[in-house]
Parts: sequence; structure tokens; C-alpha cells
Amino acid sequence: MSLRSPSMYNLDDIFSEVLITEKQIANRVSELAEEINKIYEGKDVILISIIKGAIPFTADLMRKLTGSVRLDCIRISSYKNSTVGQGEPNFLDRIQVDLKDQNVLLVDDILDTGATLDRLTKQIVKQSAASIRSCVLLDKVGRRSVAYEADFSGFDIPNEFVVGYGLDYAENYRHIPCIGVLKPELYSS
Ligand code: IMP
Ligand code: MG
Repeated sequence: MSLRSPSMYNLDDIFSEVLITEKQIANRVSELAEEINKIYEGKDVILISIIKGAIPFTADLMRKLTGSVRLDCIRISSYKNSTVGQGEPNFLDRIQVDLKDQNVLLVDDILDTGATLDRLTKQIVKQSAASIRSCVLLDKVGRRSVAYEADFSGFDIPNEFVVGYGLDYAENYRHIPCIGVLKPELYSS
């Protein structure tokens, strides 16, 4: 059996800048969970995690929630193998749980143009949820093309293409525990 060395990849080869460290993520996730726990005190909540990008964030956040929590996931793709959004978000499947009269909290890695969360919210409104809120770890504030704001937001970031902690470029780098700006020489568009 070979033990893999933790220095298998070098962050300096991937990031031009580390924007948010593992520790900063953990601290902010705890703060967000506190805010969420207050809002949903005494109420049930259904988390809808937008995967794959929101997997690490959802996993960390949900374990800090103290109330009654259920989880579903929806696959929505917007970037394909590019660092530029590919127009309309592509819903690759459907939410399975019944959302009628439920408190729904959408969880995503990053709010960029707003198209994904805006479209998903409109779809859930049709399912007669009691309330719909959203929680994003990152917010590229300057990039909105639709008027959408998250109810809970971890960090405002500049308009740079970032990877790590769930965020990918062509499915790579999701497993890196911190978030940084991807070196331009590692992508083609
Ligand atoms: P929106 O629909 O434009 O708000 O985009 C949201 C989705 O785009 C996110 O869930 C991410 O999957 C993807 N995305 C936006 N910016 C970045 C980035 O800097 N790195 C990786 N993925 C991103
Ligand atoms: Mg995403």
C-alpha cells in the first residue's frame, strides 16, 4: 500500500492568489449556520443543494444546523468546460422531495450572474413552498445580469475565476480545501 503524500499538488502551481483559506471558510460557515439557525428556529427546513459545486459547502453547513433538516440535491450546470458562463443554466434533473408548504433553503457555492438561483426560485414558487431563501458561500457582486440577492452570503469576491472547495474548472480542483484564483495559464477560455 502506498501512502499518498499531502504535497501531491502545490497550491502555487494552481492559484495565482489564495482568496479564502480553509480556516476562514470554516469560521464563516459557522457564522452562516448561526444566522440560519436563528431564522428557522422551531421550523423544519429543506436544503436544496445545487451540485456538484455546493457539495463541500452543504456538507459543512448542514452539520452546524441545529433544527430539523432534510436534504435534496439538484444538478444544474452553467459553465461546462469554460471559465465563462454558457448562457442559460442547464437543469440536469429535478427535485424529488415534495416542497408544498415547506421552508426551502437553496444552497450554492457562488452567486454570479444570478441566473441559476433566479430560475430555480421561480420553479420552486410553482411548487407552493411556504418560504424560499438562499445561502451562497461566495458572491461575485459585480456580475449580476438578473436582479437576485442571496439571503445568506459568506464572502463578496472580485470578478475572477475561482476554484477549490467545490468550485471547478472542467471538473478539476473541487477537492482543494481553500479557494483561490485559477492561474490563467491553466485555462483556455
Ligand atoms: P450564475 O447562474 O451565473 O449565478 O452562476 C452560478 C454558477 O456558475 C455557480 O454555481 C458555479 O457553478 C458557476 N460559477 C460562477 N463563477 C464561477 C467561478 O469563478 N468558478 C467556478 N464556477 C463558477
Ligand atoms: Mg454551480
